Amino acid sequence: MKTEPSRCDVLICGAGPAGLVLAIDLARRGVSARLVEKLDRPFTGSRGKGIQPRTQEIFEDLGVIDHIIARGAEYPPQRFYSADGRFHDESMVEPFEVTAEEPYHLALVIPQSTTEGVLRAKLLEYGRAPEFAKELTDFTQDAGGVQATLRTPQGLETVQASYLVGCDGGRSFVRHHLGIDFPGKSLGIRALTADVRVPGLSREVGHRWNDGDMTAQVGFDPLAGSDLFCLQVPVPLEGDVDLSAKNLTALVRQRTGQALTITDVEWSSVFVMGARLAAKYRVGRVFLCGDAAHVHPPTGGQGLNTSVQDAYNLGWKLARALERGDEEILATYEEERRPIAESMLGLSQTILDKEKEQGGRKRGREVLQLDLSYAGSSITVTEPANRPLAAGDRAPDAPFTTAAGLPKRLFDVFRGPHSTLLAFEPSIELKPLVGGQVYRIGEHGEIRDTQGAIARSYGLAKGDLVLIRPDGYIGAIVPESSFERLSPLT
Ligand SMILES: Cc1cc2nc3c(=O)[nH]c(=O)nc-3n(C[C@H](O)[C@H](O)[C@H](O)COP(=O)(O)OP(=O)(O)OC[C@H]3O[C@@H](n4cnc5c(N)ncnc54)[C@H](O)[C@@H]3O)c2cc1C
Repeated sequence: MKTEPSRCDVLICGAGPAGLVLAIDLARRGVSARLVEKLDRPFTGSRGKGIQPRTQEIFEDLGVIDHIIARGAEYPPQRFYSADGRFHDESMVEPFEVTAEEPYHLALVIPQSTTEGVLRAKLLEYGRAPEFAKELTDFTQDAGGVQATLRTPQGLETVQASYLVGCDGGRSFVRHHLGIDFPGKSLGIRALTADVRVPGLSREVGHRWNDGDMTAQVGFDPLAGSDLFCLQVPVPLEGDVDLSAKNLTALVRQRTGQALTITDVEWSSVFVMGARLAAKYRVGRVFLCGDAAHVHPPTGGQGLNTSVQDAYNLGWKLARALERGDEEILATYEEERRPIAESMLGLSQTILDKEKEQGGRKRGREVLQLDLSYAGSSITVTEPANRPLAAGDRAPDAPFTTAAGLPKRLFDVFRGPHSTLLAFEPSIELKPLVGGQVYRIGEHGEIRDTQGAIARSYGLAKGDLVLIRPDGYIGAIVPESSFERLSPLT
């Protein structure tokens, strides 16, 4: 039996990483949102376990980074075994210099289920939680909103929302229902991944046998915060795969020649790697976000990260559309995020091809996602055009001293749902901005650039203004004579 429709501003379908991040971002903005999930309990596997530095910055803004770091670990070195039983250890990451501009420079390993648990705990701080065992089964939309039907253990429920966001994964119901194409390709690789116990196997390193051989490769990665390893093994494209501990033990022994025993399988999945990108991210009042809009091969650990960043790009725009009736900003979600997913798909594939051809898994700076930029987006303004840092680029961190003489970082003032205006030694009176916090940098300002770090990393001269968007990208970088251009952007 259907009930009377309940109302909310945003209905989020799917409580994976993308849905949870969107729910937190909307909650901290005071937007009424519901997060529905068809599973009757939280997902338990390790799946997307690499958290890249840019995502760590977002997690800092959302107030969860220390909880994530405390439960995760740095990528351990990889131990490569040769046929004669000898091995050598290699670091997976290029060593990057730690700089004040980039406080997070190493990818973290943390099981996806742990990340989701931390995000659910944060959501609960706002008095909200995913609604489990509620599956979106139908929706219609008109100019006034979206009417959605949920299947629940108590029967059908109707929800009236201003917007619907499909964060419902690679097989997205929302995408299918909208009839959005999902072109791309299957990559001709089928793999099993399983979270397993292997007593006696060293947890100091990841273990790789037959690296680069897509018919015989075996990998075990220790999962932080548990006594589990994530086992990854390519399997034939066709046929059933027995995922019992007994069969996995036999498979691993046959491929490695080692007397390893898998005693327990906590979670497992068999999947065909694919690279696909939705033809559109939006139809009217309905959006696609995360894996619903793009699927990647797991190489390079980009899938979850790209999904979290989609949600982070969409959250403040939905809030602005609801608060200020600024519907136009919603078009910039696809404009900014679809090209990023396109390049991430290319990157994951390039890494996969390299792995197939040469073995080895060393990752370069390109996987960190710190150089992603929305430069050229229709909501960015750079004046004059030839600046070292342009609007659309990521806003770097920098140390400074407060007017009270305390040490702080720019990320401290960016943290929260607001925009931030930095005015470098301004000579004009700065009016307050709706939704924007204003800081003057200078000898008598709120921010004292005592080490010259802000001027250096932003390339600022006297009278320059930098508007930092709520998602940590530069929205505008202009001389103070263009102050009036900023208010529509805050
Ligand atoms: C086997 C495997 C291994 C992976 N390994 C890696 C890796 O090593 N590194 C990496 O970065 N990424 C990896 N990924 C990708 C990563 O897990 C995803 O990118 C990430 O989970 C995407 O998050 P999401 O929130 O968009 O979607 P999901 O995590 O898929 O969440 C979607 C949620 O929507 C729910 N849902 C679906 N339909 C409905 C409906 N109709 N109503 C209500 N709820 C619904 C689902 O139950 C699910 O909980 C892997 C993925 C898989 C499948």
